[in-house]
Amino acid sequence: MKKCSDFVLKMDESVTLAAANRAKELKTQGKDIIDLTLGQPDFPTPKKIGNAAIAAIENGKASFYTQAGGLPELKAAVQGYWQRFYGYEIDKQEILITTGAKFALYTYFMATLDPDDEVIIPAPYWVSYVDQVKMAGGKPIIVKAQQENHFKVTVEQLEAAKTNKTKILLLNSPSNPTGMVYSKEELKHIGEWAVANDLLILADDIYHQLVYNGAKFTAISSLSDEIRERTMVINGASKTYAMTGWRIGVAVGDSEIISAMTKIASQTTSNPTAVAQYAAIEAFSGADEDFKKMHAAFEERLNVIYPKLAEISGFEVVKPNGAFYLFPKVLEAMKIKGYNDVTEFTTAILEEAGVALVTGAGFGAKENVRLSYSTDLETLEEAVKRIKEWMDA
Ligand code: PMP
Ligand code: GLU
Repeated sequence: MKKCSDFVLKMDESVTLAAANRAKELKTQGKDIIDLTLGQPDFPTPKKIGNAAIAAIENGKASFYTQAGGLPELKAAVQGYWQRFYGYEIDKQEILITTGAKFALYTYFMATLDPDDEVIIPAPYWVSYVDQVKMAGGKPIIVKAQQENHFKVTVEQLEAAKTNKTKILLLNSPSNPTGMVYSKEELKHIGEWAVANDLLILADDIYHQLVYNGAKFTAISSLSDEIRERTMVINGASKTYAMTGWRIGVAVGDSEIISAMTKIASQTTSNPTAVAQYAAIEAFSGADEDFKKMHAAFEERLNVIYPKLAEISGFEVVKPNGAFYLFPKVLEAMKIKGYNDVTEFTTAILEEAGVALVTGAGFGAKENVRLSYSTDLETLEEAVKRIKEWMDA
């Protein structure tokens, strides 16, 4: 008997989560593994956010369903957050609160794509975009950004990828996995191109506050009314407030699409967990001081680790200025060690050097590996030392 659907059999598991599970498994077996796979802040959720959750449990508010689209009080906190970080006002009808940003993305694709509609996804891309587009019946069109161009796509490349089926242009700045941040001018150029071609824009801004060394984040949605009208912004509490486990995502954009996405949420997850929503009210309203400390730690790690990684034979690294990843090209390193498959190379680093990374293959980059610096500096230094010694052996 064929138990699973063709649909799910064709789907890939998330490579980030699979790599993290493999590292955990080896650690459980007693192996000495440094795990740099997952992109999640290593800090505990700030105390005041946790206290808000405890209060919601104690006063009984967390016991019940909330509106499928999220608590009005949380939407009000998101409105304030938008004013602070995006500089424009939004209505509650333009907001959906979801079970993590990942589900916000999924509901967006489900709400907008008809069969074979095309979504332009610049590579290297975050692992889940491609499979989510396919799950929604759409067609991912990959445009490869070159490392030499700091992993940014150009309007000329987008123009070449466009067809009469293109519906959405996806942008993720700061980027997972490259850490690259588009400049205001670049986004303006791309945004105007999307307007001229009547495309929707999906802006995954989840790392918007995680920019370093003077780099500035620009929200494409803030650049003009015409761009904003066609842009769905995805954001959330996970990365900024060390809340990955709480699962709170946010989508902000066109109210008709938001209403369609809310309908999907109402038939699938219902509301995101009530207690997490009460915690998120505190996060979005004023955990900026807690964030600053985490931000300073990430910036220091980047500045210390980047030059050491760049010194390793065969590792070619562009210094990123956002998110918390380094994404070296390891083509030369693979040749030195006799590998021509980056996933096998990543497995060898895991098994022989004891450092868990994620293969670039899952991000649409077969010559790179991803290292997440969301762990303490001492551990990071030891990890880079292990990789260097393994390469030099
Ligand atoms: N977008 C990007 C670019 C991500 O890296 C992630 C992974 N954390 C998400 C969305 C999903 O975030 P969440 O954990 O809130 O689902
Ligand atoms: N987004 C994080 C990462 O890329 C978490 C894992 C996932 O959701 O894919 O590591």
